[in-house]
Amino acid sequence: MQRRAPTEAGIWAPLHKGEDAGRVSIAPVRILLVEDDKLLADAVGRALTQSTYAVDVVTTGDEADAALSHQVYDLAILDIGLPGLSGLEVLERLRNRRSRVPVLMLTAMDALSDRVRGLDAGADDYLTKPFDLPELEARVRALLRRGAEVDSSLVHGRLRLDTSARRVYHEGQPVELSAREFAVLELLLMRAGRVVSKEHMVNHLYGWGDEVGANAIEVYVHRIRKKLEPLGCEIRTVRGMGYLVERADGEPA
Ligand code: CA
Repeated sequence: MQRRAPTEAGIWAPLHKGEDAGRVSIAPVRILLVEDDKLLADAVGRALTQSTYAVDVVTTGDEADAALSHQVYDLAILDIGLPGLSGLEVLERLRNRRSRVPVLMLTAMDALSDRVRGLDAGADDYLTKPFDLPELEARVRALLRRGAEVDSSLVHGRLRLDTSARRVYHEGQPVELSAREFAVLELLLMRAGRVVSKEHMVNHLYGWGDEVGANAIEVYVHRIRKKLEPLGCEIRTVRGMGYLVERADGEPA
């Protein structure tokens, strides 16, 4: 996977309209770009990176499926015609995992059936090749905005993570977490009920501008525990495997 370094600070996350609207955390917006045409991938990747998004570029359907299974993205730009798994198969697998990450499909000019099948399979928007970069960027901004409005909360018991503003609330009261503590917690809660390996967490945090090792993950988990255990949220250590947050009561399996 080719990784483009995000800016050190990332970009300003979208303003959250609700509680504490004046205080906004900084987090990079992460985009997965799946395109096997190298020239096009380079041009799009460069444009998005210049817009200060953190962009991962992959060129096959299988790499895309792996990246979307193991990383958290704010948006995926998905070409339909790919070596290995097709873009449509990648999309179907993504939605079968119940991921709601917004997907912008790239389709060939005359492939109406691809567009229809893509939208049926859960794509949020499509763009026909060839396209202008400003149009792509406008679609990206629109999808990110929509994503932030529609689905910016991750609720776990009495905790609510505002994933746009990168803030945590316990029964409506803000809990102070650093950006990285937030990212670690988000990862654990998104996979509540499953063990998350340290290696997986390292991969997720990589790309923030410096090296994150397994020791650093232990430090973040330790800090999160200190803040959240008094509030009744427990992060279990699964020896030799990783960390686990149990599913909250009433959460669907
Ligand atoms: Ca292609």
